[in-house]
Amino acid sequence: MQRLKLEKIKKIYKGGETVTALNGVTVSFRENEFVAVLGPSGCGKTTLLNIVGGLDRYDEGDLVINGRSTRKYKNSDWDAYRNRSIGFVFQSYNLIGHQTVLQNVEIALTLSGVSVMERRKRAKQALIDVGLEDQLRKRPNQLSGGQMQRVAIARALVNDPDIILADEPTGALDSHTSVQIMNILKEVAKTRLVIMVTHNGDLAQLYSTRIIQLLDGELQSDSNPITKEELNEENSEVLTPQKFRKTAMTLFTAASLSFRNLMTKRGRTIITSFAGSIGIIGVALVLALSNGLSDYMDQMQSDTLSGFPVTISSNPQLISFSGPMSNEKNNKYKEFPDGDVIYSYDREKDSVQHMNDITDDYIEYVKKIDKKLPGSANNISFSYGAQSNILAKGSENVVKYETFAGWQELPTNEEFISSLYSLVGKNSRLPKKSNEIVLVLDEYNRLDQSFFESLGITDSAKSYKLTDFIGKTMLKVIPNNDFYSKQGELFIPATANEFEQLYQESKGTSLTVVGILRPRKDSNNNSYRYLSSGIAYTAALTDIIVNDAKNSEIAKAQEIADKSVLIGTPFANEKMKKEALLSLGAYTTPISISIYPKDYAHKDKIMDYLDQYNKNKESKQQIIYSDLAATITEMTGTLLNTVTYVLVGFAAISLIVSTIMISIITYVSVIERTKEIGILRSVGARKKDITRVFNAETLIIGFTAGTFGVVLAYLLSIPINRIIFNLAKIDGVANLKPAHAVALILGSMVLTLIAGFIPSRMAAKKDPVVALRSE
Ligand code: ADP
Ligand code: MG
Repeated sequence: MQRLKLEKIKKIYKGGETVTALNGVTVSFRENEFVAVLGPSGCGKTTLLNIVGGLDRYDEGDLVINGRSTRKYKNSDWDAYRNRSIGFVFQSYNLIGHQTVLQNVEIALTLSGVSVMERRKRAKQALIDVGLEDQLRKRPNQLSGGQMQRVAIARALVNDPDIILADEPTGALDSHTSVQIMNILKEVAKTRLVIMVTHNGDLAQLYSTRIIQLLDGELQSDSNPITKEELNEENSEVLTPQKFRKTAMTLFTAASLSFRNLMTKRGRTIITSFAGSIGIIGVALVLALSNGLSDYMDQMQSDTLSGFPVTISSNPQLISFSGPMSNEKNNKYKEFPDGDVIYSYDREKDSVQHMNDITDDYIEYVKKIDKKLPGSANNISFSYGAQSNILAKGSENVVKYETFAGWQELPTNEEFISSLYSLVGKNSRLPKKSNEIVLVLDEYNRLDQSFFESLGITDSAKSYKLTDFIGKTMLKVIPNNDFYSKQGELFIPATANEFEQLYQESKGTSLTVVGILRPRKDSNNNSYRYLSSGIAYTAALTDIIVNDAKNSEIAKAQEIADKSVLIGTPFANEKMKKEALLSLGAYTTPISISIYPKDYAHKDKIMDYLDQYNKNKESKQQIIYSDLAATITEMTGTLLNTVTYVLVGFAAISLIVSTIMISIITYVSVIERTKEIGILRSVGARKKDITRVFNAETLIIGFTAGTFGVVLAYLLSIPINRIIFNLAKIDGVANLKPAHAVALILGSMVLTLIAGFIPSRMAAKKDPVVALRSE
């Protein structure tokens, strides 16, 4: 019975000179026989075997397998055919050096998708069959030639193929060992087709059942050709063309192959990975630093933002020359002029200063922030220039409380207050009504001496308890009408000896301390305090004071007079009168507004909103706000960006270098493993599988490099943080996020995969025949 039929097979090698290796060979083989192919060197024996084994392609003719022509075979068909039907045995054994004997045998099974247990069992059995049961864990270079060839035979047999192709299997062995090998092959040939190329005619005579002689690519003689009867029998039998199951190497097999290969070159792998990791370290550190710094800046921003408000003040606003409002036309003066001249100029018209005219309209506009942009501002505070007349009875005597000692409105947003201040002392609470106030301490529980003096406490060296103040009524706001008495055209403020009586009798508002505030321990904004030490009162009290001032006799009198109703001197200009009216509370428009944004994003929204107001308005009517925090963060932000760009540049260069290096290393590895590629192809590996093996190798290197890089970056963060802490007192700046670490390892793998792309494609394209020939 015949399973394999060559019909006029031609093989021509074109490359330099054209060589006709096979010139129309027609021969058929039986299902089981031991064929020896004899012939002088270069007559085409190996070529014949390779074509029969599907390792090489014929140029003309046909190879019929189980009655099916292979002319239309695809690459995957050939791969499957090699894996299921063919076992190769080579003169030079062709074992994979970094694999154990057992693993070398298992290779073919890993491609045919046999389970691990089954694979191991079958590989062991095949090795037992060739008498190597005690050499399983050895590596090929620890075996003798005969043993190696037996491993190769075991590998050829493990898949239970129909055909064993042996190319001078005894060519490198002594005669005694050769006999052993021949005996094994003879045994094998009882159940399958063995085609063996040999130089040794005697061995061929002794062991084979059929001798074929080749000469110059042509069949010269056949000692036992297929007879006519056999052919008829064959033709009457209906052959079912066999369809081979496709082979595929699992990713795991590719990875373990590459892993073991890398393990044999541990030193090189470690150095490669380390070199590859340098770029990763660079990127990791840049990420860690910019990460930590931007965290720090965010923190600083929200800290300073809660401290530094967006302010709108009716004081003259300095407009920078470069700013959008700078009016170059108006600025006819030259900086640092030469010559002998002094200019007289009008500040209002002629300068780069801008006066904000805070109108009721604008106040309404600002008050709408809460409605239009809910939650965007922690607090909006209005400051009125109105003087308040406050008397204090801190101890025996009633004195005038001087507001410079600390007198401010408390934000209405309680959450905002408690984010910055904590209440200390028993029964301490925030004021709710107009007659309630709080005391504000610094973080050391201190108050300025002048504060105590303002309260009439002269013995300020004495220490007090928190409870000495909480619940105590010690201040009183006196209405203008009670505080000032009219004498002719002038208004005279109350004098010290009238204070006691005013404090007792006036209808003013008595103020009780209901709580004590101190900056929060965990608020790391030590540079700026929202509240100054002293006293903070409610917005309700402001309303009372402003109302009282506006409706007071003195304010009304001042409005119609063109000289000061307090001291009687005429005003030099309009501005002075305005200021006098302001201080008496005749105006109820605030002189400054402070808006405390919740965070950076909300601040932008608020500023956009304020900018909207200025649209389509003349520059005189425009209202300019100032934002100190922006100036600070802008500066640091630019600095940070510059530093980040420089560092990213460096890191990118090292990444490129390491990518190129890994590409070269992979290329070297491909060169080194050429033989292995050939072996894998001969046992049925697809081109794709070869790509997989090298991709797996680069992925392993990429993973190791990435992990190295990330670990080293974490380690380097420790001294870097210490140095930065010593230099700038910023804690934990280098702070690599775990997500970034994972991304970097993945990135490293992707990068090395790309780096290895060309070399591994190259490996896949290698001609298996050429690959096997290489040393
Ligand atoms: P044998 O195995 O009988 O010694 P081969 O089959 O290896 O001979 O080679 C047959 C002829 O084909 C030789 O002349 C050889 O030089 C040539 N040949 C084999 N392989 C190639 C190849 N890849 N490229 C070019 N010529 C080749
Ligand atoms: Mg040969």
